[in-house]
Amino acid sequence: MLPTDLHTRWEEVLNQLRLELNSITEEELLWLQQRIALIQTLQEQIHALFLDADGSEICRTCSGSCCEHGHNHITLINVVAALLQHKIPEPDFAAPCPFLTSRGCLLTVSLRPFNCVTFICNAIEAHMDAAQVTEFYRLEKILRAHYTEVDQRYVGSSLRGLFIGTHRLDAQRLLKRRSI
Ligand code: SF4
Ligand code: SF4
Repeated sequence: MLPTDLHTRWEEVLNQLRLELNSITEEELLWLQQRIALIQTLQEQIHALFLDADGSEICRTCSGSCCEHGHNHITLINVVAALLQHKIPEPDFAAPCPFLTSRGCLLTVSLRPFNCVTFICNAIEAHMDAAQVTEFYRLEKILRAHYTEVDQRYVGSSLRGLFIGTHRLDAQRLLKRRSI
């Protein structure tokens, strides 16, 4: 898709999700908020390990090069969280990743996609001791299970990313339950 088409799709997705969030049941909204809280807590814990390994400084000297391959990792639950928390970023779909700026990632750690929070290269892992590496991958496994739970619940959710998954959904609701 061209950057302008992706931007149009982004706006469509936001508008559609706003409508859906206004019409879901309280029980469904509570389920989403609970999963968002679990995901965000885990993402902060994983990021703390990244910071302890001097990740910020290592990534700065590398100029965030892995983000240049970060096309459209963002998932349904990340966008739902951003909408509910009134933290919708302004993406640039002409950039290598739409959330990559000269000052780094536009998304707070808690709103970043699973793939971004859980990726560390060898340079960073080399700054972790064995216990930290074990803890990193233990948390990654729990976080993956929460994202998978969301994927299994909603037709519009996939770890492959919101844009790859949704352009085939046509008029279907993104928060439509798979099992209903
Ligand atoms: S995780 Fe590794 S490859 Fe990615 S920006 Fe940081 S140092 Fe560079
Ligand atoms: S969302 Fe942020 S962390 Fe992920 S690839 Fe884009 S700029 Fe990098």
